[in-house]
Amino acid sequence: MARIVISEFMDERAVRNLRAAHDVLYEPSLVDDASRLMAEAATADCLIVRNRTQVRGALLDAMKRCKVVGRLGVGLDNIDVPGCETRGMQVIPATGANALSVAEYVICSTMMLLRGAYQSTEEVAAGKWRRTALSNGRETAGKLLGIIGFGSIGRMVAGLARSLGMQVIAYDPMLREDDPVFQTGTVSYSALDSLIHRADVVTLHVPLVDGTRNLFNAQRIAAMKQGAILINSSRGHIVDVMAAVQSLRAGHLGGLAVDVFDTEPLPAEAALQKCPQLLLTPHISGVSTESNERVSFMIADKVMEALR
Ligand code: NAD
Repeated sequence: MARIVISEFMDERAVRNLRAAHDVLYEPSLVDDASRLMAEAATADCLIVRNRTQVRGALLDAMKRCKVVGRLGVGLDNIDVPGCETRGMQVIPATGANALSVAEYVICSTMMLLRGAYQSTEEVAAGKWRRTALSNGRETAGKLLGIIGFGSIGRMVAGLARSLGMQVIAYDPMLREDDPVFQTGTVSYSALDSLIHRADVVTLHVPLVDGTRNLFNAQRIAAMKQGAILINSSRGHIVDVMAAVQSLRAGHLGGLAVDVFDTEPLPAEAALQKCPQLLLTPHISGVSTESNERVSFMIADKVMEALR
């Protein structure tokens, strides 16, 4: 029987599966108590985290018994993966399990921001009838969607977008123009600069690594098409949110959706308040009832397999 410590929220039924075979400490708020987390992790054979627990430095040094790190999600930027591997720990992400939730978030944001009419509830309820002003929204069908990072989520977004009649182009440094994925006639390859210039909607699905840090700086945002929509559900530090909001307020960007931030939770920020065509969400694009189940059961199964 192994000792498993879970420091962030996980589906209770998946936790029960783990408990049937192992000694489990499940404390969704353990991540917020650094000294207890360190003490509990020191006696764990397996640590299961989401994206807030920073598995690096002193915490990693304390994890002397640990053989497995389960990640309830896919981005691994909160885990020192080489450090884990050097210490003989296996790092297990929930590859693909939350892709559909993120993809639906992207499509929903695209449709809301192109149409531009869904933030009128308060004013309509207050008797303001800005029908003319809200009658210039755009349809989604026929628009050009540019996907940066064509992995699990990028491909899922492409499938949904095609079913809505969007044209889709994608850029990924690991894929060449002659890759079979671009030969099916549904998604075309694009170089990065060309995608940024041409797309009506740009969505990012890349990991946070040296090559993607500050990828969407003020210069690249300025290079986007007039009225284009920018969506970032990948990671903070990839889009300069303040530069994007400035561009939105100046009328160059036509809409902006941001789910992930350089600092999370995001502190109160006046520059982001009362901004039309800005959608902000607290890092939930990959978290839905269904994806939480899929992610939790996938990690429970894989962790049990690895501990066998
Ligand atoms: P994935 O590994 O399947 O795909 C990532 C793709 O990005 C790969 O094809 C890779 O080649 C490509 N890539 C790497 N460097 C690049 C670069 N410099 N420019 C363009 N493309 C590059 O991962 P995924 O499951 O599609 O997830 C993508 C990212 O989305 C994750 O790393 C994670 O940070 C983020 N994510 C966020 C949430 C959320 O709730 N907000 C949920 C899930 C995933």
